[in-house]
Amino acid sequence: MPYSVSPVGYLRSCFKEKFAIPRQPQLAPAARGVLELVAPFDSGEAVDGLEQVSHVWLLFLFHQALEDQPRLKVRPPRLGGNRSLGVFATRATHRPNGIGQSVVRLERVEPGRLHLSGIDLLDGTPILDIKPYVPYADIVDAASNAIADAPPPAIPVEWSASALAQAREHALRLGEPVVELIEQCLAQDPRPAYQTPTPERRYGVLFWDVQVRWHYPEPGRIRVLEVVPS
Ligand code: SAM
Repeated sequence: MPYSVSPVGYLRSCFKEKFAIPRQPQLAPAARGVLELVAPFDSGEAVDGLEQVSHVWLLFLFHQALEDQPRLKVRPPRLGGNRSLGVFATRATHRPNGIGQSVVRLERVEPGRLHLSGIDLLDGTPILDIKPYVPYADIVDAASNAIADAPPPAIPVEWSASALAQAREHALRLGEPVVELIEQCLAQDPRPAYQTPTPERRYGVLFWDVQVRWHYPEPGRIRVLEVVPS
């Protein structure tokens, strides 16, 4: 029997495209956004007490990955895209009902608006529910996961002098930690695992309203070339 759900709000996120979003929350603490609640949740009542909580669970729709036909097996990018696993063994975006979940830091609460950091969600993501993180219940000391047992290894991110100056200017203009956001996201090497980059090849992504361009002087090393208005 089908059920229907309605978003309680939408996330305004630093991430304007799927590329280069970390694979899980908390990996980029400088990734920030504002959850704008919709009526009737936009009154202060629905968030009363939430200021006593440091982190929240977001349940959301992978609205840019919804599909009619459910997949039983998926190829997680983490495994290089060449090994398939049962969908329920992964946190893949293509999944039954398209529901995602992330624990994110709650920076500030206002009536109708939650300021968040450490997000891994695209701009415009519909949020289905918000729940307080409860450490005694949500931390499982004995937990293990042999498929995803550690965060992705970080690679060094270097800057051209001009790109760093540009990023600092945009950070001041936006009031956002743009330098840290770029370093934290690119250190996770967003390039598809099957691609071996040549130094000539340019990569780019939009964070906030700035286009970030970089290349790989050699595989496993990133150099940011420019950070310019989109
Ligand atoms: N933490 C969540 C979970 O476990 O359900 C998301 C994990 S999923 C592997 C993370 C990826 O989802 C990000 O790297 C980004 O590319 C993608 N993503 C984020 N928001 C999305 C959205 N609204 N629609 C489609 N894909 C999205």
